[in-house]
Amino acid sequence: MRPCKLVLCAIFALVAASQTSAQTKQAKQGKTDWNAPFPAHKVIGNVYFVGSAELASFLITTPQGHILINSDFEATVPVIRASVEKLGFKFTDIKILLGSHAHGDHMEGDALVKELSGARVMAMEQDVPWLRKMTPGNKPHPIDKVLKDGEQVTLGGTTLTAHLTAGHTPGCTTWTTKVDENGKSYNVLIVCSVGVNPGTVLVNNKDYPSIADDYARSFKVLRTLPVDVFLGAHGSFYNLSTKYASLQKGGANPFIDPAGFKAYLDDKERAFNTELAAQKANSKK
Ligand SMILES: [Zn+2]
Repeated sequence: MRPCKLVLCAIFALVAASQTSAQTKQAKQGKTDWNAPFPAHKVIGNVYFVGSAELASFLITTPQGHILINSDFEATVPVIRASVEKLGFKFTDIKILLGSHAHGDHMEGDALVKELSGARVMAMEQDVPWLRKMTPGNKPHPIDKVLKDGEQVTLGGTTLTAHLTAGHTPGCTTWTTKVDENGKSYNVLIVCSVGVNPGTVLVNNKDYPSIADDYARSFKVLRTLPVDVFLGAHGSFYNLSTKYASLQKGGANPFIDPAGFKAYLDDKERAFNTELAAQKANSKK
């Protein structure tokens, strides 16, 4: 019996090892996929998409240089740079670097973008402590200007407004601006994220006590903002791939989608309320 058991053990070990390696492979693959290039394109007016397959970065061009929103992972920076250049712009003309929120997939590349472009890095004050801990390759996180809720960032005739929509992180920032296209003016909104990640503690969160109240406030704030063009920190928030495909066919600009923004908020608010109720019920047990 003994050798048989040993064989079984060996089989189990092999199966376990192959599962682990498959999971690791998948995890790596997932990250690689997020950084995979996506066609750079004009969204509307002076707003361009320069991100990767899943990580949304936007270049807002002006006669006095450009604004970049989201440096993403450090590994995404070359993808962003290639997209900026493909559109005919210079990476070194980026004067201001902004971000959606202090998670690595949106702001880990800040130091590298600053190093390559000389851009000034601006961040919402409540995210600053989290950003200070983001030091890829031991590079300190650059912060040249700390922003407050409602503060405006202006360059070359374009103004962006920073709206604090906290919860996902304490300084989660939704950006809005106005663009002109064919003689019409449009409100553009780049939503930070009101998604609740798996494992996020909404009840009795010692590191972030106001998290649930902040989420609730953010849903309210976001519903008051005027939106024609709906964009977000991840392409999947606003169905980028479907809209990009439709952009290729011509016709109405698919990124003009106020209904899509409302549906996004409804979906995320429902998920937040469900998770909050479950965690509250659990905490009473
Ligand atoms: Zn995030």
